[in-house]
Amino acid sequence: MRQKLIKHIIAPLWSIKDGCYYFNFLNEFEKSQYLPREVIVETQFNKLKSMVKYAYKYCEFYKRKYSEYSFDPDSLKDLSDIKKVPVLTKEEIQTFKMQMVSSECDVNKLIPDMTGGSTGSPLHYYYDERMLGIRRAITIRHDRWSGWDIGKPVAYLWAAHRDTDIFKGIKIYLRNVLLERTYILNTSNIGKDDLREFTDLLKKKRIQYIIGYASSLYLYAKYIAGINDKEVRPKAIISTAEGLDDMQQVFIENTFKCKVFNRYGCRELNLIASECDKHEGLHINSECLFLEVNNVDADDQLGEIILSDLCNNAMPFIRYRIKDMGILYEKECSCGRGLPLIKSINGRATDFIITPRGKLVSGPSVTITVIAKTPGLIQGQIIQDKINHLIFRAVVDDSFEIEGKKFVRNKFIEYFGNDMIVDFDIVDKIDSESSGKYRFSISHVIDEELLNNYK
Ligand SMILES: [Zn+2]
Repeated sequence: MRQKLIKHIIAPLWSIKDGCYYFNFLNEFEKSQYLPREVIVETQFNKLKSMVKYAYKYCEFYKRKYSEYSFDPDSLKDLSDIKKVPVLTKEEIQTFKMQMVSSECDVNKLIPDMTGGSTGSPLHYYYDERMLGIRRAITIRHDRWSGWDIGKPVAYLWAAHRDTDIFKGIKIYLRNVLLERTYILNTSNIGKDDLREFTDLLKKKRIQYIIGYASSLYLYAKYIAGINDKEVRPKAIISTAEGLDDMQQVFIENTFKCKVFNRYGCRELNLIASECDKHEGLHINSECLFLEVNNVDADDQLGEIILSDLCNNAMPFIRYRIKDMGILYEKECSCGRGLPLIKSINGRATDFIITPRGKLVSGPSVTITVIAKTPGLIQGQIIQDKINHLIFRAVVDDSFEIEGKKFVRNKFIEYFGNDMIVDFDIVDKIDSESSGKYRFSISHVIDEELLNNYK
């Protein structure tokens, strides 16, 4: 009853009040997901062609870059021409950020956002109100594939944003009680008591859907298996923000006796792809993104993912090298959706860091606040070699020495307590793992045994 009231009355009214008409986009995307594959791909090409022309006309960066490469936006005739469009690197976005913003937009009216990203480098970008509605609608559509629907409560294993503004805090509280019904276990600092409380909450509120960072879901499954609790039985779990390996997925599914819906996304481009209830691959968010896999190896088809944003005119990302790997899956999914599939993602991985007082801090929680905001930081990585010692390995510029170090020290006290010692290791570059994965946080102290006994 309450769920239906929220879905059919409160949520639509609230969306009008917000001036963010995501319901219209949601209705559109619910239909377009079932269009035939050829129609979807053709629409994507047309949107991409328009975006390239738009960027060339209104964004100083693209005008200059395409001229330097002697690339003519009018030369795009079909999909095979897309390889002519020069790729965009993360370094270019970092260097030319403001020149990438459309001259049609008033930058003060845009929504600024930032990420620590998949490679440990801070990235700042903008989008507009319309884009906010699109992003929201897409997330709701893909969440629905798990069986969740608007108005049903959901629990997150996530980095909670601290809001110190009381008025804003009340507004967010009301919105949550009346509309969103989300409950968060803050992964910035997880103690055994927090896991117990979270478990009680799931039971008390009868929450049947859990969304979380892959590593946090795995930790929670370890906890539930450790205490042998057979009452926590969600209907579905959505794993996102980090690569989920097969071993972790099987363990989570066996512990909770439900399916894990794998999701691939990043903050700068929102939701990229996710599984439907057939689990035959991850459906790409093709209304908003064009995904290519480059340098395909003939044997396993694995290649580098290149992404183009088809909707964000305010600051277009065209042929962006996100530095993830994947395999495009040619077949159609038996669910009937025409949205193309990607087979697997060689995603990112982070370790938890354990504090001297025995709390766990998840890697992605720290990336969002530390990597994205540290002055003078170009790339960073946390290595824990002892229970009370961290090394912050960093590629930096001149402003890091005073402002950046101070910022990191303060943030680390907040996350890890003042009994954690931090040393800096300033380097020219940070190598990826031999698997090609970049790891933001590596702990030599945490092992499976510790997780098995975290109860
Ligand atoms: Zn499907």
